Amino acid sequence: MSKFWSKVVHGLTPYTPGEQVQMPGLVKLNTNENPYGPSPKAIAAMQEAAGDSLRKYSDPSNTVLKDAVARRFGLTREQVFVGNSSDEVLAHTFHALLKHDLPLLTPDISYSFYPTYCSLYGIDAVYVPLNERFEIDVADYAQPCGAIILANPNAPTGIALPLAQIEALLVAHPDQVVVIDEAYVDFGAQSAAALLGRYDNLLVIQTLSKSRSLAGLRVGFALGHPDLIAGLERVKNSFNCYPLGQVQQAGAVAALDDVAYMEQTSQAIIASRAWLTAQMQALGFDVLPSQANFIFTRHPRHDGAQLAAALRERAILVRHFKAARIDQFLRVTIGTDEECAKLVDALKAILS
Ligand SMILES: *Cc1c(COP(=O)(O)O)cnc(C)c1O
Repeated sequence: MSKFWSKVVHGLTPYTPGEQVQMPGLVKLNTNENPYGPSPKAIAAMQEAAGDSLRKYSDPSNTVLKDAVARRFGLTREQVFVGNSSDEVLAHTFHALLKHDLPLLTPDISYSFYPTYCSLYGIDAVYVPLNERFEIDVADYAQPCGAIILANPNAPTGIALPLAQIEALLVAHPDQVVVIDEAYVDFGAQSAAALLGRYDNLLVIQTLSKSRSLAGLRVGFALGHPDLIAGLERVKNSFNCYPLGQVQQAGAVAALDDVAYMEQTSQAIIASRAWLTAQMQALGFDVLPSQANFIFTRHPRHDGAQLAAALRERAILVRHFKAARIDQFLRVTIGTDEECAKLVDALKAILS
């Protein structure tokens, strides 16, 4: 607390990211980082870009990167917004598109940055409970609202909604923006990007942090009708005209163009997820059906916080949320097969 703070600062609840601990031999399964490194083509492109041209400001409209995203999704440049991480794209989205007279609808259990942005931008939100299977039921969103935001697959549950359900939401709310945060979509879910031509109220947000293994590069993007994108551009250009540097853009373009590498590494993670799920179930854990690069799991007879602490003593980090309804769960990132096996061995020892 300080008397020098602006009034709004006193009321903020900042997001708490998973810890970034440095420790030899640590098995780090707490922040959904990709265990396979970025595309070698992305690394090469960044090395190439790190030269004398850094003297100049980067392109404020990021056309090269927008075109790479547009190519990937069969869209035009005017349907693409890019930013320094999808967290930044989300922040601009809350600011530009989600503050209305009626409340924003979002699930009670979802990405915990959403309530943080609501408090930052003074947005009134209604937190719609997930059903008893921890699924989003789109029928629960049939209520007056100013806008809707969902993560699909949802986080931290990992459960994905089929495209038909997203479409039902878009049809039911033609005068509200529906934002779908697809941070994990490449691990087995269907992207709502396929619906963009038909719905002017849809905004899809993705990141290069998860399936492109570039969490440290900080690149995210949004796809939507040019009018939505123009709103985001107005906010971005009132905040920072150059959020992406040249090195960052060069890496992002090469990563987006290397589709084969992304698909191959994502398939490896999907296979490890199936193996880990079966192993956890054999140990008596309930595992929610995940389409993401993590699983959300609880043991009917062992406390979640205690399990997380016992794993930590064995140098294995997983994420535990002290939140209503989910305080018995652990969110476990899918690591390499070796890391998944270490986790299973540790759990066997802890449970016995
Ligand atoms: C990881 C994550 C993000 C943020 O990704 P960055 O681009 O690294 O900021 C956004 N939404 C959800 C649901 C996530 O899990």
